[in-house]
Amino acid sequence: MDRVDLKALISATADTIAAHADELTTLDQAIGDGDHGLNMKRGFEAVRAEADTFAAKPLPEALKAIGTKLVMTVGGASGPLFGTLFMALGKEVSTEPDRANLAAAFGKAIEAVAARGKSQVGQKTMLDVLQPVHDALLRGKTGAEITDAADSAADATVPMKALRGRASFLGDRSIGHMDAGARSVALLVRAVVETIKGHA
Ligand code: ADP
Ligand code: MG
Repeated sequence: MDRVDLKALISATADTIAAHADELTTLDQAIGDGDHGLNMKRGFEAVRAEADTFAAKPLPEALKAIGTKLVMTVGGASGPLFGTLFMALGKEVSTEPDRANLAAAFGKAIEAVAARGKSQVGQKTMLDVLQPVHDALLRGKTGAEITDAADSAADATVPMKALRGRASFLGDRSIGHMDAGARSVALLVRAVVETIKGHA
């Protein structure tokens, strides 16, 4: 992945979060405290503001720096978790990753998020989209199939009962709403896939 790609990735992810911030807030209002849209927007705009600095670094260092920035700026429960995702990706990914390295690194990053959140798949969180995306990557799926898998996985959080995060305080009343963090992951995955496709 060259430097132009990293800048494009930063702007595409920040753009999609900004465009969907109200939607993410509405989702979090239903079963949380309504700060997720603003949290994510603050974090991804902070990354965008330093895009040149990040993009000048080799990919592993760039991802670690982006993760650190997200921890410092997103806030809430999701800040440390998204930050961990990017930091762990940076630790595992090679400078010019092929799909196998990317899939392996993504798998390790998901494990790091689960450890940090003391959470696992099936609890109505961001992990419920991250894991299917990892599966799709491992199985050699196309970009379109990966984004479809992410969107379906976010939809599939609607009937789940939340067992982690604020939404879990609602018990059965968390059923019937999409998890905000799951939706964020699906948005980020689409932005990344479409940017990589556009530069291929
Ligand atoms: P907060 O819950 O502190 O208000 P946000 O609203 O920014 O933070 O983020 C909420 C999202 O974080 C949830 O929708 C969920 O996807 C994710 N989340 C919360 N707790 C956990 C956890 N323990 N493990 C994985 N994801 C979590
Ligand atoms: Mg919240």
